[in-house]
Amino acid sequence: VTGGAGFIGSSIVRKLANSKNEVLVIDALTYASNIDSISDLTSKNKIDFKNINICNREPLEKVFNSFKPQRLVHLAAETHVDNSIINPDKFLKTNVLGTFELLRASLIYLEKNKLDQKNDFVFHHVSTDEVYGDLPHPDDDNYNKNNARLLFTENTNYQPSSPYSASKAASDHLVRAWHKTYNLPITISNCSNNYGPFQHKEKLIPTVIINALNKNNIPVYGDGKQIRDWLYVDDHTEAILKILELGKIGETYNIGGRCEIRNIDLINIICDSLDKKLKINNFKHSSLIKHVEDRKGHDKRYAIDPHKIESELNWKVKETIKSGLDKTIEFYLQSHK
Ligand code: NAD
Repeated sequence: VTGGAGFIGSSIVRKLANSKNEVLVIDALTYASNIDSISDLTSKNKIDFKNINICNREPLEKVFNSFKPQRLVHLAAETHVDNSIINPDKFLKTNVLGTFELLRASLIYLEKNKLDQKNDFVFHHVSTDEVYGDLPHPDDDNYNKNNARLLFTENTNYQPSSPYSASKAASDHLVRAWHKTYNLPITISNCSNNYGPFQHKEKLIPTVIINALNKNNIPVYGDGKQIRDWLYVDDHTEAILKILELGKIGETYNIGGRCEIRNIDLINIICDSLDKKLKINNFKHSSLIKHVEDRKGHDKRYAIDPHKIESELNWKVKETIKSGLDKTIEFYLQSHK
């Protein structure tokens, strides 16, 4: 699992560690990682861990040959859109060149070990719905319910808006090209916005909770009417495990929560929940909300059509936004103590 010390990666690793699989995490432990999210597993030798940057060719080749993976789940990436606008370099290095190095090392490993390309190894690439660009928003003058681009499907054209999403789009193209040209066995998933425990504090939901707990302003980009499709992280990782088990080689699966919410509404839900949980002398956490200048190139709406993975792989969302947010808020309340 590359990026296994990150938010989503650690959720997969916690699940895999409780199965019969041998698990190796490769992670460069950037600022976005949280080794505490998997340290109980490394200390009990339930998983192996190697501090490797996926851009570094030699250690990658070595680790393929020593661990001999049957499945690779590739999550290592630079992931914060705001950082990609300020400093895109790292995004191109890790997300594009790092993915290339992993593809290259996978092919060498298959050839060296004369592995059967269909049964012995699959490269699963974890990507985002942001590669598709944005969708019409209900507030748009020309919004039309019969519009064909109402949801992202696996066939939606790529139109990434930010350096982050452009770098992820490039990595998706590389993975597909390595399948078509070199017959590398791959699957790809494109997922909507995740939330849950261990997410880095720079992302929207942790920012809202932590700022509210510290009674700091809660920044909202622009009017806050941007719509995102929210998915609890463990539902995402269940979907990835389904793809590893049952996914068809060469296929892409869109994963989403069928849970479209405007940012401002989500922030108000979190504030109301904190009001109820903390009951601080009639204090309304929503009074901390402060509208700030909008993000450059901010996409208006994302929404996934998860029909393919639901019908072909029998995957379904388990958490509602209420149950998922409850667990998430509890996690940050505990870690804030
Ligand atoms: P994250 O930022 O929490 O974690 C990324 C992990 O990758 C970190 O542990 C970091 O140390 C590691 N990493 C970064 N650069 C590396 C490098 N060069 N070599 C080795 N390790 C490196 O990210 P996340 O939110 O868990 O996202 C994981 C994957 O899922 C990413 O590929 C992301 O594009 C994708 N994704 C995320 C979301 C979301 O809402 N968070 C949604 C859809 C898809």
